Amino acid sequence: MSLRNAKSRSQISIANKLTFSFTAASIIILSLIALVLSWALSNMMLLAEKQYLIDEAHVIQELLKNYPNDFSSLKQEVSGVPQALKNNATYTYYVNVIDKNEIIIMQTPDAKEHIANAPFPKNVTAWQSHFREWVNDKGQHYLLISAPAKYDHQGNIITNLQIALNTSYPNALIQKYRLYIAAFFVLLVGLFNILGKLIAKKSLKRLYELATITEQITVSKLSDRIDTTRWPPELTSLGHSFNKMIGGIEKAFDNLSQCTNEIAHELRIPINNLIGSTEIILSRERDPIEYKELLCSNLEEFRRLSRLTDNILFLARNEMPNAFLHFTKLELAKEVKTVCEFFKDFAAEKNIQIIYEGKGSVRGDLLLVQRAITNILNNAIKYTPEGGKIHLTVRSNHDFNDIIITDNGVGISQDKLPHIFDRFYKIDSKSTGWGLGLAIVKTIMELHKGSIDVESIPGEGSRFFLRFPAFQ
Ligand code: ADP
Repeated sequence: MSLRNAKSRSQISIANKLTFSFTAASIIILSLIALVLSWALSNMMLLAEKQYLIDEAHVIQELLKNYPNDFSSLKQEVSGVPQALKNNATYTYYVNVIDKNEIIIMQTPDAKEHIANAPFPKNVTAWQSHFREWVNDKGQHYLLISAPAKYDHQGNIITNLQIALNTSYPNALIQKYRLYIAAFFVLLVGLFNILGKLIAKKSLKRLYELATITEQITVSKLSDRIDTTRWPPELTSLGHSFNKMIGGIEKAFDNLSQCTNEIAHELRIPINNLIGSTEIILSRERDPIEYKELLCSNLEEFRRLSRLTDNILFLARNEMPNAFLHFTKLELAKEVKTVCEFFKDFAAEKNIQIIYEGKGSVRGDLLLVQRAITNILNNAIKYTPEGGKIHLTVRSNHDFNDIIITDNGVGISQDKLPHIFDRFYKIDSKSTGWGLGLAIVKTIMELHKGSIDVESIPGEGSRFFLRFPAFQ
């Protein structure tokens, strides 16, 4: 199929397709009905005509049998429809009474003129099936029958009957009927076409509604939803999916604006501090030593801000599913060991003991998994007093692999626990972090189709569970 064909086919509207299908189906059904009706009518007419001929043959047979020597009644019957009625009669017929040598004994007047060459069935012994349809040279239609009329003592046929029934009038009636049906048929096709269009339009009403609502949706009107209560079942799921999609976009948009607010808020304080301290120093002449101190403190703040932008970038990038991910088989015990080695000196400064054990493999992104362990261990060291202990255990079974990090630090109160994975959430607002570390770990775990959980008792310590799906 060429591209142009494919395009023009797909451009036919659903309404037109429905109308066309409806009209086509109606034409097929109407044609079938018309054919069956026409067939039934001509069949019934033919049956009636045959019965008429059989009855006529019976009458003549009876007359020959009961009045073998009185031909007056027979003559009257053979004369057919009286001349006066002939023009208005539905059926006219002609009779030949012939002997066994086919010599005509008696004949309906005018018979010669109409049925001289009629091909009556020959050699009949019983008349039931000896019918024949015939058209004479004047175009008149006849139904012919031959029947034995009289037998000798040995049972041989000595007289035969030939009857021709003029069926031109009923045939013309059937033709007329077919013409009417054809005209009615054309009319109905037109009507069905209009009806089809109306039905298609009504059926597609909800889709048009959907298109109108879609057109009206803007960033400021994301809360609009489609009311699917009166929608047909076939379209309800489409309506639900659409509402779900808009819901998702609305949530993502809210998230984005909330995130932008939070970032602006977080940046405002350090930037204002930087501006304030620089303005104070510049307000009058100072010693070079004071300028140096300011630059050093500013540098520290710039570094913090740089870490913040790194973290924000990391979160933004990894919220796009599967972006920048490079999954390989990872030995968790090895990664835990690498991170612990990295933090060895930092922990030693506070005389904190780090213990790690266990084994298990996962499919994951090396840098992300190391970053998740780093963030949790960094917090554990940060929030554990001098001389504390941190345990890292890798636990593995058929369904999942856990890294459990337990510290005996300050702990977290129950009311704060649900919020610690939120972006920019800090329990102590004066803490040097940005409140992004755990949000990053949560994102990393979601990217690995895993989860993060925590349990904690204030004053006794915290335990974080990083759960990865089992390696497959
Ligand atoms: P930050 O980078 O500022 O530490 P996080 O997102 O890593 O932010 O942590 C959020 C908050 O959770 C921190 O402000 C801290 O109060 C609390 N927290 C995290 N880990 C621990 C822990 N091991 N012990 C006690 N509190 C913790």
